[in-house]
Amino acid sequence: MELLRPATLQEALEALAVRAGRAKPLAGGTDLVVRMKDGVEHGASFVSLARCVELRGIREDGDELVVGAMSTHEEIARSIFLRRLAPVLCDAAAEVGSVQIRERGTIGGNVVNASPAADLVPPLQVLEATLVLRSLSGERRVPIELFAQGPKATQLQPDELLVEVRFPRPLPAEIQLFQKVGARKALACAKISLAFRARVDGEVLRGVRLAWGAVAPTVVRAREAEAVLEGSAVRADVVARAIDAALAAISPIDDVRSTAWYRRTTCAALLRRALGATLLA
Ligand SMILES: Cc1cc2nc3c(=O)[nH]c(=O)nc-3n(C[C@H](O)[C@H](O)[C@H](O)COP(=O)(O)OP(=O)(O)OC[C@H]3O[C@@H](n4cnc5c(N)ncnc54)[C@H](O)[C@@H]3O)c2cc1C
Repeated sequence: MELLRPATLQEALEALAVRAGRAKPLAGGTDLVVRMKDGVEHGASFVSLARCVELRGIREDGDELVVGAMSTHEEIARSIFLRRLAPVLCDAAAEVGSVQIRERGTIGGNVVNASPAADLVPPLQVLEATLVLRSLSGERRVPIELFAQGPKATQLQPDELLVEVRFPRPLPAEIQLFQKVGARKALACAKISLAFRARVDGEVLRGVRLAWGAVAPTVVRAREAEAVLEGSAVRADVVARAIDAALAAISPIDDVRSTAWYRRTTCAALLRRALGATLLA
């Protein structure tokens, strides 16, 4: 096995390009190393991104917030800057695994993993994030909603790296919520998760965004439910229609973590709880 430790992003991209699909990026290793130990991952070359400082940091760029791909869950969870503007992302990062996993695991690895249960992806979908992918031939930007095509399947090319995640600066006074249901409080992947975002404008909701995790082959936005809620007051009939529309967006299955029935029932409860929180705002 070959382990490369490039000192710059440029060197990392060159290492991937030269090996033409035979090398894999290695970030925190919390997924990749486990897969290697399980014998599922058979790569021969690994390109560690640990020394690429260009992939680190959380910053503003004009009207956008930018999170470097090598930012760890712990850095995101503790970022005072993000907490103020994108608490939904901080709350999700704080729910990942255990402190050891959060100290090593990165946002880049979480997104590229393309797990439907990846905790940071529902928040990034409601924040309408864009992924910046770079190779030696240039840079392209992909909306996060289009990136994953199924579990472990993404648009990423073998010579590309996810460099950073960008999203428009949220407006102040938004309600942002992340709710995760797992088998226990720590070290449990989601059976269901919901990221929710809205503003309360007088009686009605505006800018409603909601995305489900772990209840379809990829994380899914519930756009029809968003449309039901947009410009509406949170009344019983609206809540009922929003739940129907939100459940239509998911296709939960029975698997090792849960049952389709439990997932559907709990999705309805999570959305009802999120809408209840808007009434208290
Ligand atoms: C005990 C345990 C508990 C866990 N709990 C949770 C949990 O609660 N919630 C959750 O969401 N996840 C959980 N995970 C999964 C994992 O920790 C996270 O998904 C983590 O964010 C992965 O990031 P990483 O940096 O470790 O990725 P790595 O393992 O280094 O890489 C994962 C994949 O992404 C690719 N990759 C990484 N960075 C880049 C990049 N910048 N550009 C291109 N490709 C890249 C790698 O090639 C690899 O295919 C858990 C894992 C373990 C072992």
